[in-house]
Amino acid sequence: MSCFEMSAPPRRVAGDSNAAETMQPRDPAPVPAESRNGGRVKAGGQAPQGVYLPNNNILTPHMRSPAYVQMSTAAAITLGVMQGMMHRTCCTRCLNLLLTYPEGCRANCAYCGLARHRESLRDYADRNFIRVDWPAVPYDDVLDIVASGGDQGRFHRMCISMITHPDSDADARVVLRRWTERIPHIPVSILSNPTTMTRQDVQALKDLGADIFTVALDAATPEIFDRTRGRGVQSPHSWDKYWEILNAAAEIFGPGHFGAHLIAGMGETERDMLALVQRLRDMGGHSHMFAFFPESGSLMDHLPAVARPQWRRVQLARYLIDYRARRVEQMRFDETGRLADFGVPRDELDAIVDAGIAFRTSGCPGQEAEDVSACDRPYGDSPPRDIASYPFTPNGNDLRRIRAQLRARRS
Ligand code: SF4
Repeated sequence: MSCFEMSAPPRRVAGDSNAAETMQPRDPAPVPAESRNGGRVKAGGQAPQGVYLPNNNILTPHMRSPAYVQMSTAAAITLGVMQGMMHRTCCTRCLNLLLTYPEGCRANCAYCGLARHRESLRDYADRNFIRVDWPAVPYDDVLDIVASGGDQGRFHRMCISMITHPDSDADARVVLRRWTERIPHIPVSILSNPTTMTRQDVQALKDLGADIFTVALDAATPEIFDRTRGRGVQSPHSWDKYWEILNAAAEIFGPGHFGAHLIAGMGETERDMLALVQRLRDMGGHSHMFAFFPESGSLMDHLPAVARPQWRRVQLARYLIDYRARRVEQMRFDETGRLADFGVPRDELDAIVDAGIAFRTSGCPGQEAEDVSACDRPYGDSPPRDIASYPFTPNGNDLRRIRAQLRARRS
């Protein structure tokens, strides 16, 4: 077995991981009564007209799923409902849809741009989420464009993000049913809302044709979960409820058809994170890993993005566990929980690094390969100048940078 220094001596850096004591959200501020539950939008009563591009300076129209859905900027450009260019890529392979309501998501997750506390400043449909705007589009238009081939075959997958809202279970079923009736050749993933769901709801989505069911666990430990999306920020989620739905998904959807979103760099150790990745793999699922990024307007926007050395180690180890049958028990960690050895022979590890797939965005697969995510989320967890998750195969310069990040050590 070799250690992960690979071919060059360690480079000393001032800090290579986000420590638990640093990663503390600030408290949510009180929301004025008139702004709560989409109050401004509902009082304004502005009727929507076609595509709505987020604009915080005008009265946001009153839009509701399932008639309306929001979609990522990358998806809107790919679908042709919005003009724009993306750095080093021309499209996304996943049509990420977000259910939308004037009341928005009723949860308050500390790292999320959609969180409830933001209703004091910004209407739901105008909020940034994973670093980008989410235009709102009539769902009929989405169906018509994709069913008639208007996406030119670029979408390999569609995903419904449910958010936390009392109507989202029923509306997700409507959006899913209408999609599978008209566009059965593009599989659908569900990014679920466990807090309002039962096992029967999971079964209903399977029966309607959903292909993959995911749970945004996000936090690697119960303590971080509670601090960032539970009682710590006046949010309704609980670790146990999320695991109840994750276990139900494992049984109902089966191996290879369920997974969990995890965010690296919120104060967990690398051992914590990779033990969780292994637990999910042993259940038959996959981990979809995100790099923590301080989302503008969130309760963690004052905190550092995940340190790149920490991120690269976790990103590579996750790939080894999920797609190369390596186990966390074969890896070695130091006394602080930092990964010290991947437990893989050097030549094998070099080949995996050189292939670059381990450093691409992780998520549900498309048509390219089992270990290549359709959900490429361009620049969803980093700016283009310092890419965390590559929405394409990293080139030679990218790999040199990745190798330097893997070699870096704490001073
Ligand atoms: S439940 Fe999801 S969408 Fe809602 S605040 Fe939390 S992370 Fe954001």
